[in-house]
Amino acid sequence: MFVEVAFPISSYTQFTYRIPKKFIDQIHVGIRVKAPLGKRLVTGIVVAKSAESDYSGKHKNIKELIDLQPVMDNKLWKLVQWMSSYYFTPVGQVVKTVLPAKLSTKYTPPTTGLVVYKSFGDNYEQLQKRAPIQAKVLQFLSVQERAIPIAALKHMVSSPNAVCKTLFDKGLVDLDEVTNLPDVTGFTFSKIHKEIAFTNEQKLVLGELSKKLNSRKFSPTLLHGVTGSGKTEIYIEIVRQALEMNKSAILLLPEISLTPQIAGRFRSVFGDQVALWHSRLSHAARAWTWKQICAGQFNVTIGARSAVFAPLKNLGVIIIDEEQEYSFKQESPAPRYHAREVALMRGKLNDAVVIMSSATPSLESYYNHVKEKYSYLRLNKRYGGAPYPQVQIVDMIKEQEETGKFQQVISSKLQKIMESKFAKGEQVMLLQNRRGFAPILRCGDCGHVETCVQCKIALTYHSHERLLKCHFCGYETSNIPIACHKCTSINLKLLGVGTQKVEDVIREQYPGIKIARIDFDTARNIPALTRILEKFAAGEIHVLIGTQMIAKGLDFDNVTLVGIVNGDTGLFLPDFRSGEKVFQLIYQAAGRSGRRKPGEVIIQTYNPDNPVLIHAARLDQKKYYNIALSERQELNYPPFSWLIRLEIEGTKKELVTTHADKIRKKLSPSPKGIDILGPAKCYRERLRGKYRMHIMIKSNKTHDTNGEKLHSFLQDCLAVGLLNRLPSSVKILIDVNPVSVL
Ligand code: ADP
Ligand code: ZN
Ligand code: ZN
Repeated sequence: MFVEVAFPISSYTQFTYRIPKKFIDQIHVGIRVKAPLGKRLVTGIVVAKSAESDYSGKHKNIKELIDLQPVMDNKLWKLVQWMSSYYFTPVGQVVKTVLPAKLSTKYTPPTTGLVVYKSFGDNYEQLQKRAPIQAKVLQFLSVQERAIPIAALKHMVSSPNAVCKTLFDKGLVDLDEVTNLPDVTGFTFSKIHKEIAFTNEQKLVLGELSKKLNSRKFSPTLLHGVTGSGKTEIYIEIVRQALEMNKSAILLLPEISLTPQIAGRFRSVFGDQVALWHSRLSHAARAWTWKQICAGQFNVTIGARSAVFAPLKNLGVIIIDEEQEYSFKQESPAPRYHAREVALMRGKLNDAVVIMSSATPSLESYYNHVKEKYSYLRLNKRYGGAPYPQVQIVDMIKEQEETGKFQQVISSKLQKIMESKFAKGEQVMLLQNRRGFAPILRCGDCGHVETCVQCKIALTYHSHERLLKCHFCGYETSNIPIACHKCTSINLKLLGVGTQKVEDVIREQYPGIKIARIDFDTARNIPALTRILEKFAAGEIHVLIGTQMIAKGLDFDNVTLVGIVNGDTGLFLPDFRSGEKVFQLIYQAAGRSGRRKPGEVIIQTYNPDNPVLIHAARLDQKKYYNIALSERQELNYPPFSWLIRLEIEGTKKELVTTHADKIRKKLSPSPKGIDILGPAKCYRERLRGKYRMHIMIKSNKTHDTNGEKLHSFLQDCLAVGLLNRLPSSVKILIDVNPVSVL
């Protein structure tokens, strides 16, 4: 007997091994083994088992078995294979992404011993005389309403465990244990209980979803519901119905760190059936959770993008909340997968309902609804009938002319409204989608911009830490130049606005006002972040300043003003999606205002005529999406075409250029309907010490409905050696359906 084993290496070949007799009955597809690869023993996964082998050389033997049971079932295995071919990534490497890193680690989560009163026995008086301590404990337990942790008896006795054991042996108490599920310390999943009576609109949507669930067929659905329309309550109800049918469910969330509210709701309804899956769990806890899910201990998994792989059996529904979010895309390492794409394939393989949900769907999903590839459910009304906020654009150029003040952070209009909110005891959120103090340090004489040594990108000044930081590679220096590196002028200027600057301006202007800031720098500390959110909810903070992290998912009753400090941020990046991103961000942020009381939104901009901002201000999504779609169509960009991006990178500029040209030549001639652009320098032409160029391959959907032509074109090119003879210092990354082309 022979097996094919895939290893997590970048080679595209699998290797054949002989199964030694002793393992024949134990080796199955999906089991991990150790086998010799070169001179080392390497862990791989069995991908096929057969009686014959075509390989004519000498077969090596499998050396060790790691698992007794497959660590993924057949359907998950099919998903891995699909990912391997769809994302042009070797199977072994896909497996490495799908399976938790240290699956073999032994780990048992800590438990808490519980004790509960049973009876006083036949002779309590005797017990009181002979063992007064035991009697005292028993007396105490008899008045408790439920089982209590044994450790809680510490205040009465010095060795509560021993006492409880003795009482148990006498049949007077019962002992029990609860497992302390691996959560992240500091996450408050305070259970949030609610009485829900669904509105008519919600009932209609739920009715449709139940029908789909009951049909037990793959059914991709776009749930397009305005912020506050009760999407979360819909998820809960549909998951409840799935569980009732003995099916399981996955809920994918973009940034779990900011969604304790949703997780809390789920915990309160489903209790310990819910597994939380995210990058902050320790390796051991992840491995444990994976195996528990395999064993059927959890029926619901909530998590960020990799939760899409949770090995649930009998999957009934996958929900992708905020489906337009880019954090669902894995950028590195390969496979560069998108959790939405994977969820759709997994749904197909499992005959499950896939709900893509958003207030601002991605243009792709919206288009798929227009083309009737997805069914479409709409929630138009905010729950409780809260009206939409009033949105105004503030023209910052006019503001400059009128006030004579340049580079104002907060316009007089925004100031005035903020003050009226403070007077009423209402709260304000300010969005500035740039962290740090100032994103540019520029010489006022020669124009030289201070950039990162690794990346050709301006360093951001962080005033609170007194550092210059690169937001790409993480490089930072406290060595802040006092003179220009090029011309030695000391006329250096900090330009632009980051969250820290907004914070400083507000602090200075409104000394009595309590302010908090949420961005990548402050959110790393989850307990602190949770405290900020709790304080804001309790009204102890008046102004919350933040990056896009505060734009989504947060639900605070008393916020009646959202200020977009700079609506232009990101608007002019050379990416065909930049407009869509800005629109979604502003629209989402606007949704934080006036969830219970009438609210307002102010968008400050230097480009008041920009259609993105105009339609965002009118909250006219349909109009903007139509404009954006016709632009995409004109330029033959997704969703009208399929796009694959080849990124060529290396430390030596000439080598990158030469090989980019070589690769480009090997790609022609291309079949009809397939366009090739480039090679061109990436917009971010140097990152982390590497030069970057890219080639884009576009395939128009009128020729290539499901992208198969594009895939087989690239597959053929790879098979005849597209990437052969690349020097080791040049790397090529294949990005299928890239979400960013910078
Ligand atoms: P979304 O996810 O669409 O932004 P949520 O599900 O967070 O909206 O709903 C907004 C608020 O309204 C939440 O506090 C939610 O609990 C509440 N809510 C929504 N629908 C109902 C309902 N039918 N009954 C009671 N409360 C509801
Ligand atoms: Zn200079
Ligand atoms: Zn850098």
